[in-house]
Formats: sequence, C-alpha cells, structure tokens
Amino acid sequence: MMNAAKQIESDVVVVGGGGSGLASAVEAASLGADVTVIETADVLRGSTGLSVGSIAAAGTPDQARLGIRDTSSRHFDDYQIISGDLARTENPDLVRLLVDNVADTIAWLRSMGIEFFGPVGEPPHSVPRLHNVLPGSRSYIYHLERRARKLGVNIVLNVTARRLLTTDAGRVRGTVCITRDNRSVTFLARKGVILAAGDFSANQALKCEWINKTVSQFVPINVYANGDAQTMGMNVGGQILNADVFDVPSMRLAPPRKEGLYGLLQRLPPSRALTGLLGWGLRNLPDQLIRTLIMGFVTTYLSPSEALFDHGAILVDRDGRLHASTDTNINIVVARLGEAGGYIIGDRKLREIFSRAPNYVATAPGVAHAYLQDFRRARRDVYFEAPTLEALANKIGVPAKALQLAVSSAKEAATAGPGTALDSAPYFALGPVRGYLIQTNGGLRVNSRLEVVRRDGRPIPGLYAVGNAGQGGLALFGHGHHLGWAFTSGRLAGRNVMADPDETDSGACRRSRR
Ligand SMILES: Cc1cc2nc3c(=O)[nH]c(=O)nc-3n(C[C@H](O)[C@H](O)[C@H](O)COP(=O)(O)OP(=O)(O)OC[C@H]3O[C@@H](n4cnc5c(N)ncnc54)[C@H](O)[C@@H]3O)c2cc1C
Repeated sequence: MMNAAKQIESDVVVVGGGGSGLASAVEAASLGADVTVIETADVLRGSTGLSVGSIAAAGTPDQARLGIRDTSSRHFDDYQIISGDLARTENPDLVRLLVDNVADTIAWLRSMGIEFFGPVGEPPHSVPRLHNVLPGSRSYIYHLERRARKLGVNIVLNVTARRLLTTDAGRVRGTVCITRDNRSVTFLARKGVILAAGDFSANQALKCEWINKTVSQFVPINVYANGDAQTMGMNVGGQILNADVFDVPSMRLAPPRKEGLYGLLQRLPPSRALTGLLGWGLRNLPDQLIRTLIMGFVTTYLSPSEALFDHGAILVDRDGRLHASTDTNINIVVARLGEAGGYIIGDRKLREIFSRAPNYVATAPGVAHAYLQDFRRARRDVYFEAPTLEALANKIGVPAKALQLAVSSAKEAATAGPGTALDSAPYFALGPVRGYLIQTNGGLRVNSRLEVVRRDGRPIPGLYAVGNAGQGGLALFGHGHHLGWAFTSGRLAGRNVMADPDETDSGACRRSRR
C-alpha cells in the first residue's frame, strides 16, 4: 500500500541523471533555474558512465593543433554517408543542430574540468574527429555532477518517474514517481520537464514489440534502460521514431572488479591534475608504459577483437561446447549465448601473435591498445591460463571433456585459421564474454528546440526530450555521435526550457494513461 503522496516543485524537472540529463540540469541551473534531477539508480552513471567516451566533433582547437582542417558542413556530409539508407528518414535540422553545436559542447565540457585526448581517426569519418575523454567516461558524470551540485541542483536518487502530469490545457506540469520503498512523490515543474531517461535496451517487452523476439533476448549493458521516457512521452501524445533501429550487439568483457590496484585507480577522482598528467603521458611516454595505467581507469565493457577468431581462436559456451561463426557475425553468435556468455580459447602461438602491434585485443577507450599480456597481467578476472586444456577447463569451470572435444572438432572442421591449430601449450581463455546490446535508437520525435512533438508536428507544451530518449529519428550511426547528441541536446534543452513561460495555471492536473 502506498503512503500519502508528497509534492515537490521546481522550475525544471529532469528525468534521468546520465549524460544528457546532467547536461540539461547544469545549463538550466546556470541560467538561474531551480532544477531537480530524478534518477532511478542509486548512483549517477547511466550508459554515459559505462561508455567508451568518444565524441565526434568538427572544427575543434584539438583538430587545429594537429593541422586537421574540418568543418561542420563536412561533418554533416559524412554523417549522411554513415547513416546510409536511414539518412532519407532522418531530420536534417537535428543533424545540423548536432554538427553545428558539438564543438561548443566539447568546449563547455572542458570548462568543467573534463579533458580529452586526440582527435583520432576512425572510418567512415573522413578526418580524425574522435575526441576521447580522459581517463574514462566516468569523468563526464563526475564533473557534471560536481558542477550541478555547485549550482544547487537537487539530485534525487532511487526514484523512478512513472507518468507525466498534464494540465487541462495539455501542458506537461510534472511527473509522478515511485521511491524504492514504494512511496509516491510528485515532482512539479514550473517551466518544463526534460525527459533524459535513455534507451529501452533493457526492456524485453518493448524490444519484442518494437524490434523482434531475438533482440529481446539480448543482454543489455545498462539495466536501467527501460524506455520509461519513450513510454511516458507516447502516453501524452508523443511519437517514437526509428523504434526498430538498434546497434548490433557487440562481444564484450565486463569491466574490472573494484579490487586491488585497479580498484584503487577506479576510485581516484578524475581531477584536472590527473587527466592532465595522463594526457601528457599519452603524448610523451612510450605506449607500453602508459597502457597499463590507462587500462586501470577503463570502466567500459572492453570489446575483444574479432581478429582473434581469424587467427584460430574458438568460442565455447559455459558447457564447453563449440560455437562456430561460419556464416553469422561472431558478435551475434556470442549474443545468442545470453546472460551466461562463453569463453574465447587460444593457445601459446595465438598469445604471441596478440602480444604486440598491430594485433591488439581491445582498445582502451580509443587512447591505448591492450594486448594479451596486459590482460594476463592486469585482468585476472577475465584472463585464465593453464598448461593443459583439462587444467584450463577446471579454471573456467567447464567440463574438460567437452572443451577437448570442442578443440578437436574445431581442428577437424578447419575453423582454426592459418598458422594456429590450438596445439601449443599453455592455453588461455578470455571471458566470460557476452554479446551485449549497447543501445536501441528509438526515441521521441523532437523539434529543433528539443520539444517533444505530436504526429502533426505541434509541440507538447512543457515537455522536452534529450539524449537517447529524444533521438528524434536520428540513428546516430558512427562512433561518437551518441555522446555528442546526449550532451548537445541536453545543454540546448536546458537553455530552451528557460525561455519558456512559467506555468501559472497550477489548477487541475491530469495523469497520463500508463
Ligand atoms: C559500452 C558502451 C559504449 C559506448 N561508447 C560510446 C562512445 O564512445 N561514443 C558515443 O558517442 N556513444 C557511446 N555509447 C552510447 C552513449 O553512451 C549513449 O548513447 C549516451 O550515453 C546516452 O546518454 P543518455 O543521457 O541519453 O542516457 P543515459 O546516460 O543512459 O542516462 C539515462 C539515465 O536515466 C535513468 N533512468 C532511466 N529510467 C528512469 C526513470 N524512469 N526515472 C528516473 N531515471 C531513469 C538511468 O538510470 C540513467 O541514469 C556507448 C554506450 C555503451 C553502453
């Protein structure tokens, strides 16, 4: 049974304390608003804090320093190419909003103490454009939260927004939320509500309805990505665009546990002094020296290189059974193993190949490469080694006979690549590796002011959507566009909501249907 409802009123209510929500809150608060951020989790993080952390931007001082000539128009053209067929359905005004403002967003983030390395190149971007955050993506959350708190933003954790409240005139007036202990709290907004609650990669029912059953089974990285913003927005007349567009699952290893040296590094605040030192190290120290340190700050889910399989590694499930990729993308094969995941198995020859350039195992976050010996040294939670297959099987807890059978079947089927036959001890296992669904791309349709609009294009007064929640039909393909959009749309919505008139009609409020 619920206790009596409590009401809290502020100028702006932001639903979701990830990258886009915090950006909205900081911008609105810096313009004088009294802001409340509602976050369902017990910490601020979101997909933003779990991400690799790269932002694609054109015309930055970082590019100029490296002699890279780039413009937002060129970025716009590249974006269209990267979008492929979807470009026809995207809103070019929103693409312009992104490419024209993202360089300023980087400067804005920098003004809060967030530091970047690069830019580095990554096709199909036609020039180096990826600005990689140092030391890792938790820096975004750390500095934005600090700034928000300094500006007096009220951050409320462990509270989940459930539905929107509208006035009789159809203006969004606030949101009804539920606390962990099942109390109902209503947050009223005098100026507007900004939906910043991310994507729906963790919502099986929505994935099944909007994408398909297979995708609905894929494991999400962000367990809080329930599509609440999309559902709430639709319930007051909003429209979802690109509901069926999702990023192909990618094979990933979980981030390090918070123990030992790496645990300590993860707890260090990503201060200006620390990131400045790391930036200097990246520019001046040999790759090998800086690599281990950078790896310690990585909070994202590292993605092992598919090239391991080209060189003869095999994939086994938790029962030791072989799963070959034959004609299916290996990432999908891993994703089909579900929550249990599997292990990548290799031998000494493979270990040697993947112990030096150019054969890295993973990229730690776009700034340094990690080789097998880095995993061997620093990631004992996901790297295992043994002199025999039997001993390796025992270490990773799969039946030894099954693992031996998997290796011999792989040899017979000649799935092992040239030069390797998985016959040289010691053997290693990397895992558990899972095929995670990074994100879905269906978001509320928004206009260039980031207002949620109805099917007929009319804005819903008092309602904004940003980040994944307000992708507005942008697929945001190509590395670095999602974070660029999250921070840019958040920042601009925080500004736009302040231009809105106050809601003076505090009269009858209606709950949206659920
Ligand atoms: C592993 C990984 C790597 C990535 N790497 C990159 C990259 O390098 N570059 C790039 O551009 N993009 C990258 N992305 C994508 C990018 O991180 C996201 O698109 C972006 O962070 C989305 O920001 P957001 O603010 O919309 O959502 P989030 O950061 O997920 O924030 C949403 C917040 O809302 C909260 N919430 C949800 N429901 C409710 C509710 N009902 N009430 C209250 N709070 C709620 C959530 O807990 C969360 O804190 C990556 C994503 C992942 C998972």
